[in-house]
Amino acid sequence: MTDSYLLPGLPKPVASPDGLDTPFWDGLREGRLLLQRCGSCRRFQWGPEWVCHRCRSLELAYEETPAEGLVYSHQRVWHPVHPALKDQGPYIIVLVELPAADRVRIIGNLVGDPQQELVIGTPVSGVFEHHPDDDPPYSLLQWTAA
Ligand SMILES: [Zn+2]
Repeated sequence: MTDSYLLPGLPKPVASPDGLDTPFWDGLREGRLLLQRCGSCRRFQWGPEWVCHRCRSLELAYEETPAEGLVYSHQRVWHPVHPALKDQGPYIIVLVELPAADRVRIIGNLVGDPQQELVIGTPVSGVFEHHPDDDPPYSLLQWTAA
């Protein structure tokens, strides 16, 4: 198992049963950020939907985008939200805006010093956290201040 940012024991992320977000999770396992992009209006969107948020087209596909963004919002978490985290804290949750993907936003954790100073607009880079030996194997996209 790879080093985890958060303590082990949390529920493992898996693709939704309908397969809507399967390409996203498969991409993370390959170290790639794949998000939905509309084949009609060419806009990215996230989270995944069956229909384009803007033009209502059904021509949605997944496309790679750089895992580079800006902190849109953040929260330093001191209270455990799951029993597995009772000995961890604080940690930082970030809402990352992706300029190369029509400024869609995605949630993750900010790795590194949990007491680090952080301001809105801070550039961040994606860090792929792989768990190849878990059942099922999975990967997470975390973030680090660039
Ligand atoms: Zn569209």
